Amino acid sequence: MEPSGQRLTLRGIVQGVGFRPFVLRLARECGVSGRVWNHAAGVTIEGFANAEVLATFTRRLRTEAPPGARIDDLSSEAMAGTAPAAFTIEPSAAAAERVVSIPPDLAVCDDCLAEIADPAARRYRYPFTNCTACGPRFTIARDVPWDRPATTMAGFAMCDACRAEFEDPGDRRFHAQPIACPACGPRLRLVDAGGHSLGEGDAALRAAARALRAGGIVAVKGLGGFHLACDATFAPAVSRLRERKRREQKPLAVMVRDLAAAARHAGLREEERALLRSPARPVVLVERRHDSRLAPGVAPDNPLVGLLLAYTPLHHLLLEAAQRPLVMTSANLSEEPLCWRDDEARERLRGLADLFLVHDREIVAPCDDSVARCIAGAPTLLRRARGHVPGALPVARPFARPVLACGALLKNTFCVGAGAAAHLGPHVGDLENVATLDAWEAAIERALRFLRVTPEVVAHDLHPEYASTRYALARPEPLKVAVQHHHAHVAALMAEHRLEDRLLGLAWDGTGHGTDGTAWGGEFLLVGADGSCERIATFRPLAMAGGDRAVREVWRLALALVEDAFDGAPPTAALALFDAVPRHDLHVVRQMLASDLNTPRARGVGRYFDAFGALGLVRARSSYEGEVALLWNVAADPAEPGRYPFHLHTRHLPWEIDLRLTARAAVRDLMDGRGAPTVSARFHRSLVAAAEEVVRLAARHHGRTPVGLTGGCFQNPLLAEGLLAALGGFDVRLHREVPPGDGGLALGQAVVADAVARKSL
Ligand SMILES: [Zn+2]
Ligand SMILES: [Zn+2]
Ligand SMILES: [Zn+2]
Repeated sequence: MEPSGQRLTLRGIVQGVGFRPFVLRLARECGVSGRVWNHAAGVTIEGFANAEVLATFTRRLRTEAPPGARIDDLSSEAMAGTAPAAFTIEPSAAAAERVVSIPPDLAVCDDCLAEIADPAARRYRYPFTNCTACGPRFTIARDVPWDRPATTMAGFAMCDACRAEFEDPGDRRFHAQPIACPACGPRLRLVDAGGHSLGEGDAALRAAARALRAGGIVAVKGLGGFHLACDATFAPAVSRLRERKRREQKPLAVMVRDLAAAARHAGLREEERALLRSPARPVVLVERRHDSRLAPGVAPDNPLVGLLLAYTPLHHLLLEAAQRPLVMTSANLSEEPLCWRDDEARERLRGLADLFLVHDREIVAPCDDSVARCIAGAPTLLRRARGHVPGALPVARPFARPVLACGALLKNTFCVGAGAAAHLGPHVGDLENVATLDAWEAAIERALRFLRVTPEVVAHDLHPEYASTRYALARPEPLKVAVQHHHAHVAALMAEHRLEDRLLGLAWDGTGHGTDGTAWGGEFLLVGADGSCERIATFRPLAMAGGDRAVREVWRLALALVEDAFDGAPPTAALALFDAVPRHDLHVVRQMLASDLNTPRARGVGRYFDAFGALGLVRARSSYEGEVALLWNVAADPAEPGRYPFHLHTRHLPWEIDLRLTARAAVRDLMDGRGAPTVSARFHRSLVAAAEEVVRLAARHHGRTPVGLTGGCFQNPLLAEGLLAALGGFDVRLHREVPPGDGGLALGQAVVADAVARKSL
């Protein structure tokens, strides 16, 4: 049969992940001649062979692509021409290469792992082993394009053996920019708190593992920054780490070697296994097994645990030597940004870590671990960072002018929108801290430089006091667009799903500044791609005695809830929660509520979780924002079918969901001795029923549209899955690649600002 020609164009994540060498190997294996090259839009392959071989080749391109690759689109067309004798990799056009962005960091691949385990291999036990399919990317890039001289590997001169691999198109390290080996690459070092070296290379690694086994705390320099590590099965080490880090209750991530080890600590569903193994290797929230050996202090009172698999050769070697799961938590004091530079780490982590396992491959961009969870059977990113940043999110309508969106306050990030793509920056943390703010500003400058974007429009939250708002207003660009918080949440979900019409978004979170100056957070918004936003419904507000103090002292919210529900005569004496509150405080807050003094109102569904949770769990305080709300969610018994009544007031817009009847019924249940699992489940089902009623009514009044679930409350699977089931006939959209919480907000701000700015063009 005559060989025929075919031109294949592939889009998606096909650069910086070892795609071209893979194509070359596959072509040679199949007997296809031709060429492959990179360009701005992706990868193009011209292949010659008989039709049957070409079909096999095309199919295997999809099924056998390297783990970090993602083919979003593969188009093929017949092509005339003479078949060349062989298959080759063509150099990329220089001009095209410039726009090619830096890929995200990739977890170590199986081939590299096999190599470091092989005593005969050159890279036996070498912790910086990588190849075109794995290794550091974003975190070591000083500039674009993705080329060794523009990375922190520039100072390491390749040895002859590495250079031969780097230059051989048939080698799996062909153009692997961070290529290294024990002869020419970075080295490990173990240092004590005083800066004295305690060993190098393998000796450093083994000594660090010994210290961990003995209950010590070791700061470990990883891919995007330092972790604080300790033995996750040894309770005294875990509590010492908590004390030093000043982190009382928040769950700590635990790293294990592989899926088999993960399965010893958590019951894993198939989709959770896949998520744990995915190239971004996120921290995955999973249900802890009752027989797990993990110290309870890893996640106090919480049935969930955050597990992640080792994702660098260094982690693998360390876990192998330590012979136990390790707590691997971002190295910082609570509220401070992640540590990533050696000198700074020793300064800031003094007193936190006993030892420092460091190396001389510099990190230029800090990048925390990503966090994900399976909701309704599919992964949802809760924190978007390592392994995802700086990946582009394609948008439905290209940005008219480049936009910088600054996000909100907590768990913040930013977004740069230009052309047909939006780039969310890495999770930075809460902008309430000066050091975090500095790190965030530096990340913005770096993103703009890498993307070669000069913003013309700056988007920010409506809240005038947020540091991100002040930063936005101080920037030189003249065009500023304020975007309401929940509008931005819904717009982010629309952008993620590339919806171009309207979406009825349920934006439920803790708080966000409303257009009327009050705190919103239980919103039903009908949002259009043209930037329009109509508020259809919300929740009856809850009084926050003492303002933000009520976010931590959740008993104040519980008191406000029952005062409201029982018309000023609640059965507080019969509720265990109020026994835990000093009588005097109770009296003062009661008076505040009665006189309305320093008592703003909040409509956030998260605040209702706090209030009901405080009552049901008998917990007066949250040690971090949303703690009681989270525990109230995980307390629910999913098998409990009951629910409570509620009211929906529809006399005027926005309609109002009134949970006073719900609160009364829940209080009666608690007084009857029903436990938190039952009461929490009924509370969840009441919210689902109320939302369902609003959605069905809105469809009748405003036309049927897709329905979206967004805002921090939808990190809660019970709520999301309950609504999915209740809204069977509707097209219901959930977040997947963009976090439902404020970490995804900037994307929504960017697209709304673009829609608004178009009108002023
Ligand atoms: Zn590899
Ligand atoms: Zn070498
Ligand atoms: Zn929010």
